[in-house]
Amino acid sequence: MQLGKLQLKVILADITTLDVDVIVNAANTSLLGGGGVDGAIHRAAGPGLLQECRTLGGARTGEAKITGAYNLPAKYVIHTPGPVWHGGDSQEAYLLAKCWRNCLHLAAENNCQSIAFPSISTGVYRFPIKVAAQIALGEIKDFASSPSSINSVTICCFSPKDQQIYQQALQTFKG
Ligand code: ADP
Repeated sequence: MQLGKLQLKVILADITTLDVDVIVNAANTSLLGGGGVDGAIHRAAGPGLLQECRTLGGARTGEAKITGAYNLPAKYVIHTPGPVWHGGDSQEAYLLAKCWRNCLHLAAENNCQSIAFPSISTGVYRFPIKVAAQIALGEIKDFASSPSSINSVTICCFSPKDQQIYQQALQTFKG
């Protein structure tokens, strides 16, 4: 889908293999690695990434912090702790929107042109993926309405089912 000068794609891939300027890590607040996509990114990037992450002092849920990407094909990694789903009354939607927004802005501040996101919070953190997809698309559309360095946003799904959900959300999204 084309949003102004920004191209938005939903793909099925291992995010650690993507040759984009920046990949987003669905981290935890320690920023010291974990399971899921976080573990995969640290494994593929090598120990330099953890060393740099140790200097960051963690991040609050919804915040975003940038590091180098070490052995990854990307130039940077943006780490953002998504919200843990507690039923929906604990600002989960607000915090997830903040993750997407802060990552996009931080990527633009660093002159990135292309960014790839995993499905933040919908793994171990159990955020309902259909709601998460609507939030993600809302933030990307908002972001695309102002000029920035970014011309390509990829949502990188890790299962065909997840890809189908984001693709469907894209087709039916009204803003
Ligand atoms: P969270 O704790 O934010 O829920 P998870 O890592 O548990 O983070 O899951 C987030 C999403 O990332 C899930 O959809 C999971 O399937 C996906 N994922 C796991 N490994 C990878 C990978 N290598 N590339 C892309 N997505 C991945």
